[in-house]
Amino acid sequence: MDLHRIRLGNTVFEGRNNAYLLSGEVTTLVDVGASLDEIRDDLDAGLDEVGLGVSDIDQILLTHWHADHTGLAGELQAESGAVVRAHEADAPLIAGETDAVQAERDIRLRRFDEWGIPEGKREELVSFLEMHDDLEGESADVTPLTDGERIDAGDGELEVHHLPGHAAGLTAFAFDGGSDGNGEEAFVGDAILPKYTPNVGGADLRVERPLQTYVESLVSLIDWDVDRAWPGHRDPIDDPSARAATILEHHRERTERVVNTLRDHGPADAWTVSARLFGELENIHILHGPGEAWAHLDHLVHADVAAREGNEYRLVESDPDISALFPKTKY
Ligand SMILES: [Zn+2]
Ligand SMILES: [Zn+2]
Repeated sequence: MDLHRIRLGNTVFEGRNNAYLLSGEVTTLVDVGASLDEIRDDLDAGLDEVGLGVSDIDQILLTHWHADHTGLAGELQAESGAVVRAHEADAPLIAGETDAVQAERDIRLRRFDEWGIPEGKREELVSFLEMHDDLEGESADVTPLTDGERIDAGDGELEVHHLPGHAAGLTAFAFDGGSDGNGEEAFVGDAILPKYTPNVGGADLRVERPLQTYVESLVSLIDWDVDRAWPGHRDPIDDPSARAATILEHHRERTERVVNTLRDHGPADAWTVSARLFGELENIHILHGPGEAWAHLDHLVHADVAAREGNEYRLVESDPDISALFPKTKY
């Protein structure tokens, strides 16, 4: 696979984004970055390094709907005529379909109430989100993808692996890696990242049972055991299975902290738990903090360790076995 990594700017979210270029028969970009002039410049420069331009792009594959991965898709499609593809769960949002966008906004407002985000912080978050609305760029015409599908890309093939959690439609694209095509590698978007633990609960409010959903994706990454993962942000991950296990362990520890918080504090809403876990929150973290807390609280409720009363959560088991709430892995 003739793979060229293009590093893009990103000062807001999880660190610099990557777009991946597969050149050959079907010139393909995996993710494209936010709709900003400087990111467009990074992308043009990256294509230029291998003697290509936007008009050469045949296909754009998107790992998930977040604007820092998809923002330029519409603009690039308009210029190149490229096919744009994303998982069927995320395609309507990327296409800017009114119903899908409105539904996501509605869930957002409902969750802000449920989580107990204070009025001032809510205003701060809404204005932050509005300020970054233009990162989404022009909407694209998106052809949906499903799990297991195989797609021609570059001079080879990619296989679609659905790994929901951070986003409902999060998709990895697998290929035969290495110069002689042995060993499997994958573009993983934000399913696992080398530095941060990808947010669950706040990053895609449409995901039901976000922590459980994400844990299942981590287990499938551990079992899959690819040789290398190419993430949506920062550098390649050389032992993706171990990285997924580390993130899983991180969530187990966080669940423990949530239980301790409920024990010390008594019944609490997601905002209160978030404040205990993360302290004072600003900008996007006003969404991600209580979202993460809620994902863990919801996990405890489904395990009958906590109960929800109104918007508050109360511990029903005083000394639960936390490790029993997470799957056993080979690590
Ligand atoms: Zn993301
Ligand atoms: Zn991202």
